[in-house]
Amino acid sequence: MLDRVLQEIRERHRFVVTSHARPDGDGIGSALACAQILRHMEKEADVVMHDGVPRIYQSLPFADRVIHSESVPPNDAVIILECDSIKRTQLKGLEDCFLISIDHHVTGRNFAQINWIDSSAIATAELVYRMARLAGVPLDAAIATCLYTALMTDTGSFMFEGTNEHTFAIARELVLAGADPAQCARNIYFGHSTAKLRLLGAALANLHRQGALAWIWVTLEQMERFGAREEDCEGLVNYALSIGDVQVAVFFRELPDDRWRVSLRSKGEVNVATVAEHFGGGGHKCASGCSLDGPMGVAVTRVIERLHAEKAAVNAT
Ligand code: 5GP
Repeated sequence: MLDRVLQEIRERHRFVVTSHARPDGDGIGSALACAQILRHMEKEADVVMHDGVPRIYQSLPFADRVIHSESVPPNDAVIILECDSIKRTQLKGLEDCFLISIDHHVTGRNFAQINWIDSSAIATAELVYRMARLAGVPLDAAIATCLYTALMTDTGSFMFEGTNEHTFAIARELVLAGADPAQCARNIYFGHSTAKLRLLGAALANLHRQGALAWIWVTLEQMERFGAREEDCEGLVNYALSIGDVQVAVFFRELPDDRWRVSLRSKGEVNVATVAEHFGGGGHKCASGCSLDGPMGVAVTRVIERLHAEKAAVNAT
């Protein structure tokens, strides 16, 4: 499939590269790297993101060139990374474009004209790395920094299940090409806003436990009070998962229309991708997300019940 992707790229000239709305490190890092690879291939490439670039990723090479827009500019093809549908990009105008999807999610769907979905890859960055290699594009420090940041964040700093010798082999190549691991880590893990830390305090004050489950939540009122943005919620769920006897952690965030955004994380015993899929979302076995109607008590009960059912099914096999 990679051959086919490169063939389709070679036949076209003007590209838009994008990812899902509220892009995470893999979405933004892979998109920035992909656009640079396309430029090395003498193509025109713009990265377009519905939500722009979250603050902690703004120091990545070429992040300042990302177009923050609601719709796609004219193009010959759009490369959509790390995303399972047109809808999740929240960009208008994609229906009429030639779409190439590159993704590593187990819940990835064939929604584009060309779909390169490989769930054996630890991050979409791994697929973009392979693309650069096969296209014969040399990895410079800028591409390496974007890909390393994507790899580092999507593996939870090389800690998540699935991280293996191939992950480190790619990381090694990226460091040899000029990515600075300490600098990449500093930008991400020591670049938070005060609002995020205040929000974390509020979320942890709402910590609930039930057996091996833990959940926390934040309301819109709390976010407004602390001046927190959506991106400040990223990673809060990991604090609940860090408790020794917790197997699954869930983070609930209130949305404006009395819906709740849900982030699920597992240490491996429970498959949270199937739980998120049940509610119309998706992701990986150990990290997934979805949205549910409120009120909060109902949303929490539905998710917790589903998690218990999933855990019981796992234990029964
Ligand atoms: P997060 O909790 O950080 O938003 O997402 C965790 C993982 O689940 C990411 O890999 C993300 O792409 C995926 N994910 C989150 N929300 C959704 C969703 O609504 N639909 C799908 N398909 N995947 C999601």
